[in-house]
Amino acid sequence: MGDSFSYLQKAISDLTSHPDISGLISSRFYKSKPHGPQDQPDYLNAAVFIETTLGSESLLDAMQNIENDNDRVREGVKRWGARTLDLDLLFYGDQEINTKRLSVPHPRICERSFVLYPLQDLIKKTKDDLVINKSTTILDCINNLSNTEKNNIMEFDHA
Ligand code: AMP
Repeated sequence: MGDSFSYLQKAISDLTSHPDISGLISSRFYKSKPHGPQDQPDYLNAAVFIETTLGSESLLDAMQNIENDNDRVREGVKRWGARTLDLDLLFYGDQEINTKRLSVPHPRICERSFVLYPLQDLIKKTKDDLVINKSTTILDCINNLSNTEKNNIMEFDHA
C-alpha cells in the first residue's frame, strides 16, 4: 500500500541503523502480483541478510516496531490484504524455532518465488547455503515452482 519502493528502502535503512544489527546485505528488489485478494497493487519484495546480537523474539519485536514506524496498521485488516510493509523472519542461523510468536524457518519459504528469488541472490552474495529442512535447499524449491509462480515475478529496476 502506498509508495512500496520508499517503504522498502526505509525498512532497510531502519534495519541498518538499528544498534544491535550489523552487516546488512540486500538482495535485488522484485515485483510480483498479489496472492490472495487481487484488488490491490503489485508487491515489492526483497530479502536481507543481517548479523545481530538480538535473540529471535527480540529481533521480531524490532521488526514489528519498524513495521509500525512505517505506517503498518494491524487491526481490522484482512489476511493477505494490502499493507505498507511486512517483515518476516525467514531464517535465524540454522535454528528451528516453534513458539507462539515464531515459526522459523518461515513455513511458506518454499512456495513463493517472491521469497525464493531474493534468497537466491543472498546465497550468491554470502556463499551461505540455506537449508529449509534436513535436505531441501532453496534451489530445490525454485526447481519445483509451478510455471505460474515462476512467471509471477520480475526484477524491479530502481536505477
Ligand atoms: P504478518 O501478518 O506476516 O505480519 O505476521 C503476523 C504474525 O506472524 C506475527 O504476529 C508473528 O508473531 C507471527 N509469525 C510467526 N512466525 C513468524 C516469522 N517467521 N516471521 C514473522 N512473523 C512470524
